[in-house]
Amino acid sequence: MDKCRLCGRETVLELSHILPKFIFKYAKSTSLTGHIRATENPNRIVQDGKKVPFLCKECETLFSGWESYFSQNIFHPYQNDEKVSFNYDYRLSKFLSSVSFRVLLYSFENDKDGFLIILF
Ligand SMILES: [Zn+2]
Repeated sequence: MDKCRLCGRETVLELSHILPKFIFKYAKSTSLTGHIRATENPNRIVQDGKKVPFLCKECETLFSGWESYFSQNIFHPYQNDEKVSFNYDYRLSKFLSSVSFRVLLYSFENDKDGFLIILF
């Protein structure tokens, strides 16, 4: 049992992506080799981005909804040249805040030297 980084409840934590999974899925699908590599060991092919026990199920579900919104309504339409302009509303704000929250907190907890942020 550990403490959820968002709500603070002591519970079993989900394995959370620090950067959303759809980013790695897209990177793999558009890679010339079909693979992605980790910054920790660039000679090694990895299947996915870094996942750590970070959030409880409820908070993971909350973040997942904002990720789905961003992925389906902004990221993929933009990558597919279907849309270049988007409304900035609370859903985009919440998605961006959730990514910032995860990256900053993960870096704070794991970046002892103040230089190295490994997200893959
Ligand atoms: Zn939680």
